[in-house]
Amino acid sequence: MSMQRRDFLKTVGATSAIAALPGCATTGGGTAGKVVVVGAVYGGATAAKYIRMWSDGGVDVTLVEPNPEFISCPISNLVIGGSKTLADITVSYDNLSKRHGVKIVKDTASAIDTEKRVVKLAGGGELPYDRLILSPGVDLMWDKVPSLNNADAQAKILHAWKAGAQTVALRNQLLAMPDGGVFVLSIPVAPYRCPPGPYERACQVAWYFKRAKPRSKILILDGNGDVTSKGPLFKKAWAEEYKGIVEYRPNHVLTDVDVATRTAKFEVQDNVRADVLNVIPPQRAGAIARAAGVVTANDRWCDVDFLTFESVKVKNVHVLGDAIQIATGMPKSGHMANQHAKVCAAAVVALLSGQAPNPTPVLSNACYSFTTDKDAVHVCSVHQYDKEKKTVLPVPGAGGVSTAANELEGRYAFAWATNIWADSLA
Ligand SMILES: Cc1cc2nc3c(=O)[nH]c(=O)nc-3n(C[C@H](O)[C@H](O)[C@H](O)COP(=O)(O)OP(=O)(O)OC[C@H]3O[C@@H](n4cnc5c(N)ncnc54)[C@H](O)[C@@H]3O)c2cc1C
Repeated sequence: MSMQRRDFLKTVGATSAIAALPGCATTGGGTAGKVVVVGAVYGGATAAKYIRMWSDGGVDVTLVEPNPEFISCPISNLVIGGSKTLADITVSYDNLSKRHGVKIVKDTASAIDTEKRVVKLAGGGELPYDRLILSPGVDLMWDKVPSLNNADAQAKILHAWKAGAQTVALRNQLLAMPDGGVFVLSIPVAPYRCPPGPYERACQVAWYFKRAKPRSKILILDGNGDVTSKGPLFKKAWAEEYKGIVEYRPNHVLTDVDVATRTAKFEVQDNVRADVLNVIPPQRAGAIARAAGVVTANDRWCDVDFLTFESVKVKNVHVLGDAIQIATGMPKSGHMANQHAKVCAAAVVALLSGQAPNPTPVLSNACYSFTTDKDAVHVCSVHQYDKEKKTVLPVPGAGGVSTAANELEGRYAFAWATNIWADSLA
């Protein structure tokens, strides 16, 4: 491309104009436009970095995130168990700006004008966009646990389903609990963020109790009819490694709690009193998705076109990660959010340069869970776009699950974490 034409493109700045220019349909140096990304964790940070890389720095990317640094939910259960610290799961956002030229705005997106294509910030600023990518994660549905629908109660009965202050606070509740106490874990009806996550948490608390408080017990009260992921492997760990410590009860749909007495209440079963009560409430797409008008499924999740992750309802708004209405067999996981981000980033760069997106994207997922401080198990799957059904489907025979927990898989699991943090943020 000649310098004159390059200058002209910079001047117009609008992607529609570029897309209309003949001969401009290459990714890389010829691509330009403004992308705003909301949410800087597994989905958002990855999309921001890859759009910068795949457009050779041509697309202007602004990332909006209120948190000063990245704190990972994966591995956070090991902080609760005490074998890792919060520092071990915290990564700086600096490389996104220094190495990749992503503009990071430390603020919260408060409203979206999808007609004018402008993101409004809680701090008062406005960010115009050609394409907007929302990866806001989940909001916790406190209306489903009415007594927890206030900040005071939420500071006492913890969820620790967003890594950070709550992770440390739950660890501190376990440290303060006397030996012989009962830890009660309430799990919502699926779909929720990270299907195996609650069962991994039970293992990590059991690992701690076995060493520090051996007379203590764990009661898993699951809203589902059975363990939703890696069931036989978790049950084996509870029956063998944690014999006499963990008890699992299915079909316990939580209706409310009594905060003062740390009592869980259910649709059918008797109340259960805990020494430490950990409630993971039902979840839905983060509030900004609702504000953008992209929540389309059950008033909770966002339907997307799986070729681009563009909302089926609002043009030029893409949604990634836990916030989307999942396809068959697709977990709400960090790995999946990372894969959504790459399909979306490639599609956005293509669309901004007037090209068609890849018609057959493939996504993969690996979910590791630690059963002790060192041993882990995995489940993995491959998902491919089906042109006829216009959705993403698991590829038969392409996935797998561990036969037993072991230390080698534990090493792979730590490597998975450091690799995905580097992939998104380094
Ligand atoms: C205990 C636990 C263990 C897990 N273990 C694993 C695992 O081993 N492997 C795995 O793959 N997954 C795991 N997960 C799941 C994984 O953490 C999530 O699937 C993943 O974080 C989803 O990424 P996301 O980008 O959709 O959302 P998030 O990671 O939640 O990121 C959303 C970001 O958006 C920001 N945000 C929200 N609203 C706004 C707004 N209005 N303006 C600006 N910013 C906003 C938030 O501050 C947040 O930083 C685990 C989860 C938990 C809770």
